[in-house]
Amino acid sequence: MAELNFECKKCRKIFDSNVGTITFPTEPGQRPKFENSIVCPSCGVLTIEDVLLTELGQTQLTAIDMERW
Ligand SMILES: [Zn+2]
Repeated sequence: MAELNFECKKCRKIFDSNVGTITFPTEPGQRPKFENSIVCPSCGVLTIEDVLLTELGQTQLTAIDMERW
């Protein structure tokens, strides 16, 4: 279970979404996969194409990635 901070590309709202288990790619350049859908408080369910990871979200994701080892 993991909460990440996203920015919605549609409404520009910043929000936290519980993405569940994160599957990290084995190949560089691929995006991680999330167990849960990302839900914007205004727009509802979004795909990863509809959101940006904020700087905080990047930091959170990196921290989770490091915990694996
Ligand atoms: Zn939105």
